[in-house]
Amino acid sequence: MNFWETATQLSGFNETLVDELNSKKILLIGAGGLAHPLVTSLCGSGLTTFDIADGDVIEYKNLHRQFLFNEKCIGQGKARVLKSKLEDHYPQTNISIIEKFLEEKDLFEQIPKYDLIIDCSDNFKTRYNINEVCVEKNIPLVMGLASGVTGHAAAFLNYANSPCYECIFPRNTNINEDSCDELGILTPVLSYVSSMVAMMTIRIILDQFTKENFLYRIDGMTLKTNQTLINVDNECFVCKK
Ligand SMILES: [Zn+2]
Repeated sequence: MNFWETATQLSGFNETLVDELNSKKILLIGAGGLAHPLVTSLCGSGLTTFDIADGDVIEYKNLHRQFLFNEKCIGQGKARVLKSKLEDHYPQTNISIIEKFLEEKDLFEQIPKYDLIIDCSDNFKTRYNINEVCVEKNIPLVMGLASGVTGHAAAFLNYANSPCYECIFPRNTNINEDSCDELGILTPVLSYVSSMVAMMTIRIILDQFTKENFLYRIDGMTLKTNQTLINVDNECFVCKK
């Protein structure tokens, strides 16, 4: 039996499409709580070729939501162990890793090598830096963010006159900068957001992503979800400079 046999029974899905999913160079930034359900969704869909960047090491306190790690992995690099765990289950994977926190100069060096960036980082400084480079280099960006009981997902194609991350979350607004560790996080929100990110990623690669951009938001306690049309901020100092 072919590994993808049942997956390719989906209407419109076939092995050619699996090849297409793996035809792009993708960089996933962040191997934490969002990345675990995300990479599982991507690999389970046949998208097994991507690179992972993270300079962090595995800690006991995060194991409950970083489910591909276990106590034996504590102290090891997140990117390296995530690659290894995925290779165990999906022998088709073709994953390279960058074992460092990507600072601004690293992002300018790395991002242009890719066709698409997935931002699963856990801090706003990195998110804004990633956005700036993706806008400047016209590289599509899919981002997921989960904090407390809420989560957001959005994709930015970064063609001329399209909105960017800074347009909807300008950094001069009063954003809560506390990290997941300080706020806590409702684990199912990570699965919800990562599923949205995975589906956006697949749609972009298959050139099926609408140019009408939405920000998707979920409140994990009230179960309210909403989508907001993302407009270009004509004052945005990143995409309108
Ligand atoms: Zn902008």
